[in-house]
Amino acid sequence: MKKISLLGSTGSIGVNTLDVIERYPENFQICALSAGSNVELFARQIRKFKPALAALFDSTKVDALKELVADLDVKIVSGPEGSVSAASFPEVDLVVSGVVGSAGLLPALAALKAGKNLALANKETLVIAGELVLKEAARTNTKIIPIDSEHSAIFQALNGEKTERIKKIILTASGGPFRTFSLKQMENVTVKEALNHPNWSMGAKITIDSSTMMNKGLEYIEAKWLFGVETNVEVIVHAQSIIHSMIEFVDTSIMAQLGIPDMRVPIAYALTYPDRFESELPSLDLAAMGDLTFEAPDFERFPCLQLAMDAMEMGQTLPAVLNAANEIAVQAFLDELIPYKDIAELIRMVMQNHRPVPLQELEDVLEADRWAREETTKLITVTH
Ligand code: MG
Repeated sequence: MKKISLLGSTGSIGVNTLDVIERYPENFQICALSAGSNVELFARQIRKFKPALAALFDSTKVDALKELVADLDVKIVSGPEGSVSAASFPEVDLVVSGVVGSAGLLPALAALKAGKNLALANKETLVIAGELVLKEAARTNTKIIPIDSEHSAIFQALNGEKTERIKKIILTASGGPFRTFSLKQMENVTVKEALNHPNWSMGAKITIDSSTMMNKGLEYIEAKWLFGVETNVEVIVHAQSIIHSMIEFVDTSIMAQLGIPDMRVPIAYALTYPDRFESELPSLDLAAMGDLTFEAPDFERFPCLQLAMDAMEMGQTLPAVLNAANEIAVQAFLDELIPYKDIAELIRMVMQNHRPVPLQELEDVLEADRWAREETTKLITVTH
């Protein structure tokens, strides 16, 4: 019986993780859950999965939660310390993090520090503090198992291989809803259009990131940290999202992982790794799929992808700044405060105004994150 702590249980990854866990009651037990602010759903999950500890990030709603689960034997905690308690819950073997955004960093570090293996869907953790996170995992001899579908594919393609035999990682991208749009068409796309992803059903933030290809940019950085900063990573647009990523080895052989675009597949692999469990999900119907297509990414129409690669190249606090500026800009777009094309423009300006410092401790990341959020907010107020 694997004992699990699930962080971000009411989000898209969280809900899918519980859906997988529910199918294997003999193999997994939920010991701790954490969520942001969706009290009603969180209460239903607590009732169903009976964790010993439940952490609600939004402290203002903790009384409402306590009332909803008053008849249950569960300890309720709140705030950032609450998520840290859930991440380091004593009996847990594996912490699954589906937290959205940079709020995932502290609990991820806490899990590794407590000696827990970490199944990571929250890419920001590696994007903003990859160096510190890897150091902590090495220090405590813990494993980071990627849940992001592309990184799970690379992780699976690496089974039994040596990382030093990788020639390059080929990171596939769906290209999002605007893959075929002209530069002119992309200037005035609406929130509704951007939220309409062709293949994957995900949360709002990541769906917008997919439409700008910032998601692929963040995944590029994530791949560098997971599989070696010196490793070549190439992005290729593959509209059908069937090949989830590939590795070309030094002998030019390419290993690919294919599957239906359903997050429950990589989630289940992270939970059962190094084993695999039988799944009730439908098999991929290759004949029905027909053609699989590939094209080079267009950096002119998708400047966010280039910005992310540049941030990784420059290193230090720049990836943290890129990520924070993106979070604020995407939220401003969702709130209809800025036009779509300004997301990339704002990030570019904030990166230009930043004075990078080396990442030595957590405070360096948090300070860069704070600065970039303020700077982006300021630029939005001044220019809109
Ligand atoms: Mg992905």
